[in-house]
Amino acid sequence: MVCITVGTGIGSGLIVNGKLVRGASNAAGEIGHIKLQMENGPICGCGDRGCLEAFASGPAIVAMAEEYIRGGKSTKYRELANPDITPYIVAEAAKQGDVVAKKIFETIGNYIGVGLASVVNLLNPEKIVIGGGVADAGELLFTPIKETLKKRTMPIQGACVEVVHAELGNTAGVIGASLLIED
Ligand SMILES: [Zn+2]
Repeated sequence: MVCITVGTGIGSGLIVNGKLVRGASNAAGEIGHIKLQMENGPICGCGDRGCLEAFASGPAIVAMAEEYIRGGKSTKYRELANPDITPYIVAEAAKQGDVVAKKIFETIGNYIGVGLASVVNLLNPEKIVIGGGVADAGELLFTPIKETLKKRTMPIQGACVEVVHAELGNTAGVIGASLLIED
């Protein structure tokens, strides 16, 4: 199973055969830093360029939304902004039918789907759990992720993977950390 959180960054945890994968130095699972672009990609928090997180986290949604405004697009989220644009506001605009906001979530979902396709091909997981603030956009985000996974994974790995919304909300990190202490 792979769990990812999409918020200010993209984090993840991997569980293989019921065990958390820690890696050689307790740092396994940095899905957010899978490279989607060879050169000249957007700058990531890790210092490199072209990482999934730089394309598809909450700040990337805001940057894309602001870019559309600078490009002269009229959007619902511009009206809803109070005064800042947030991923939540872009999601609200999309739910109210705003075409630009819907396009942003489609693009973000495609990026995440492409990144996850590599993970699915590598690990052949049965389930991907997606949480974090941006995942609260629901089907706006999940539909393009699922469609991209269907198109971009290898057939055998892609056929069995299920994508679901995380159930534990904001307490997930605390619950997970407390379970690790019991280990
Ligand atoms: Zn990075």
